[in-house]
Amino acid sequence: METKPVWTIIKILNWTKQYFAEKGVENPRLDAEILLCAVLKCERIKLYLDFERPLDEQELAAYRGFVARRAQHEPLAYILGEKAFMRNTFKVNSHTLVPRPETELLVESLLSAADKVNSEPKILDIGTGSGAILVSLLDYLPQAKGVGVDIAPGALKVAKENAVRIGVADRAAFLLSDLFSAIPEEKKFDIIVSNPPYIPAADIGTLARDVQQEPHGALDGGVDGLDFYRRITDKAADYLTADGLLAFEIGIGQSKAVCAMCRACGLGAVAVRRDYADIDRMVFAAREGGRYADILLEITK
Ligand code: GLN
Repeated sequence: METKPVWTIIKILNWTKQYFAEKGVENPRLDAEILLCAVLKCERIKLYLDFERPLDEQELAAYRGFVARRAQHEPLAYILGEKAFMRNTFKVNSHTLVPRPETELLVESLLSAADKVNSEPKILDIGTGSGAILVSLLDYLPQAKGVGVDIAPGALKVAKENAVRIGVADRAAFLLSDLFSAIPEEKKFDIIVSNPPYIPAADIGTLARDVQQEPHGALDGGVDGLDFYRRITDKAADYLTADGLLAFEIGIGQSKAVCAMCRACGLGAVAVRRDYADIDRMVFAAREGGRYADILLEITK
């Protein structure tokens, strides 16, 4: 009689590590562990304490499904359905960009600005996606209120769910809007923030395979990647309070052009912040002489 092989935790992790490595998955062992934890609903340490534990048929079937998806380079966050950002876990799916650690720096700078200038800001987040930026700001600033806009209905649905999960829904509104199109003209915001699509169109095909599975509408910034900065700076000054703050995440090599656009729209005080890889990654701009103008250097340190 043929006996079925017994898949223990250690055996299946070793097998998956090898398989992922062959498929070019970047962190094969780590991803194998994280996916197995999702199936077993446990912490990673538990795997190490239980290496010889056999998996039952149901667990194996669920795990195989996850492994097949990851081998196709589906982002880990989509398979898990969530991504940690700041102090919360955000729901994500294929309608939303996966929140990045660099974007946490943007949020931190804005929290620092709010701390120094206005702890009750009205915030507009353009292209809110999963809502990571807006929902985090509202979570850390209990007096703040905000609007998140996105052109993708699927993303807005996720953003709303995150606002509810994280307990800020009573201070957040989400609108289907092509940038400012659905925002009444008389509305003014203390902070306008955006992590718009900024990858030059021709570069999309050169991105990591995982990234290419994220919504192209959230990545593709037109020929030079700068389309959305042009369109946003064209209108931003109309929607900012007299001394409001405009904050952008930007792509590689875009800081000079984006700073120039901010100055050209009347926001003469401009500062750039670098990311963990020492790349210019954020631009902050305000009218000269305003309260935010004075603290730009402090929040971009
Ligand atoms: N940070 C993303 C990447 O380079 C791009 C996000 C965007 O276009 N805003 O992978």
